[in-house]
Amino acid sequence: MREIAVLGATGSIGASALDVIARHPERLRATVLAAGSNVDALLALCRTHRPRHAVIADEAGYIALRDGLRDAGLDTEAHAGADAICALAAGSDCDTVVAAIVGAAGLPSTLAAAHAGKRLLLANKESLVLAGELLMQAACNGGATIVPIDSEHNAIFQCLPDAAARDGLAHITLTASGGPFRGWRRDTLEAVTPEQAVAHPKWSMGPKISVDSATLMNKGLEVIEAHHLFNVERARIDVLVHPQSLVHSLVTFRDGSTLAQLGLPDMRTALAVGFGWPERLESGVAGLDLLAQGGRLEFEAPDLDAFPCLRLAFDALEAGGTAPAVLNAANEVAVSAFLQRRVGFLSIPRLVEAALSGTPAGAADSLEGLHQADAAARRHVEHEITRMGPAT
Ligand code: NDP
Ligand code: MG
Repeated sequence: MREIAVLGATGSIGASALDVIARHPERLRATVLAAGSNVDALLALCRTHRPRHAVIADEAGYIALRDGLRDAGLDTEAHAGADAICALAAGSDCDTVVAAIVGAAGLPSTLAAAHAGKRLLLANKESLVLAGELLMQAACNGGATIVPIDSEHNAIFQCLPDAAARDGLAHITLTASGGPFRGWRRDTLEAVTPEQAVAHPKWSMGPKISVDSATLMNKGLEVIEAHHLFNVERARIDVLVHPQSLVHSLVTFRDGSTLAQLGLPDMRTALAVGFGWPERLESGVAGLDLLAQGGRLEFEAPDLDAFPCLRLAFDALEAGGTAPAVLNAANEVAVSAFLQRRVGFLSIPRLVEAALSGTPAGAADSLEGLHQADAAARRHVEHEITRMGPAT
């Protein structure tokens, strides 16, 4: 029986993970569920999945969680706070951790699971962007197995099943749907609304990653993620826009072969790979019928003029050190301000670029240094937003 902690259980990835887990009661069990602040949603999941532990990061939610569990007649133990999430992610009540908290807030628990040698189903790409070297080192030292859940990296993982395949790797091609504004010119993007930006044409996801997909920052974060996961440098990573979102990524080997993984855009496939690997588990996702999907696979180059976030991410990876941490933190603050209608869509790349040039560069070899860079970038962007005044 695989005992699983689902961190970010109330989110989009959390729902997909719990759906796959519920299909395999004889093999998979959710023993720990963690969320940020939504106590009602966490309680509803506890009633269905009956975990041993439920944790709410926001300590103000503890009493409501504890009383709600008691009133529902559950023997699930209530916990609160980020440290409790880390302790449970590293503890003996799980052997597998689904890291699906959104943003840099996911780093401590992801690191804790890596140190503790868990099977780590890693959806929280921001933790790799912020602290990729430290996280990969922690997984190596702790004996953790990382299975990437991001669909592109899960595809690459499936195409590189062993060390011999990795040795023969020449380059990686990440595919991108292009998001809701594919084909739009830059000057037409200024006035787009949060509603338009989160309406992704192919994937149903949380609001932050949906905006990242619309700016192409998501693909930029994924380039940095691929660099750490597969130990490939910038020059060996390409991005292609593929509007059908059926080819999830491609791997090209030294001998000229290219392998790809295809499937419907549904995260349950990647999660089932993570739970079952190297076995294949039922995920609830139908096999691909290419003719029913329109019978066409198209590819085009990304438009870096309309979507400069991708270029900024490539630059941050080249610059190295704390630059990716600054990129990530600045983006988190800018996206949150955009969702709150405090800034326009094109302010996201402008704010990230200003943070990259306005925050001192440092080495990425200590958690403390990375946290300082992250905090400095957040302050820089908040200051810029205040200086800009309300969005028109
Ligand atoms: P959602 O916004 O749907 O869910 C976010 C989850 O994180 C919620 O459970 C939320 O809890 C929890 N959370 C937020 N802040 C904290 C915190 N400080 N401490 C603990 N928990 C917190 O996001 P997604 O599921 O879409 O994305 C999750 C991660 O997976 C992201 O890193 C994203 O980039 C990555 N990912 C997502 C994909 C997708 O298809 N959705 C695809 C590939 C990667 P609460 O509900 O209480 O706020
Ligand atoms: Mg992805």
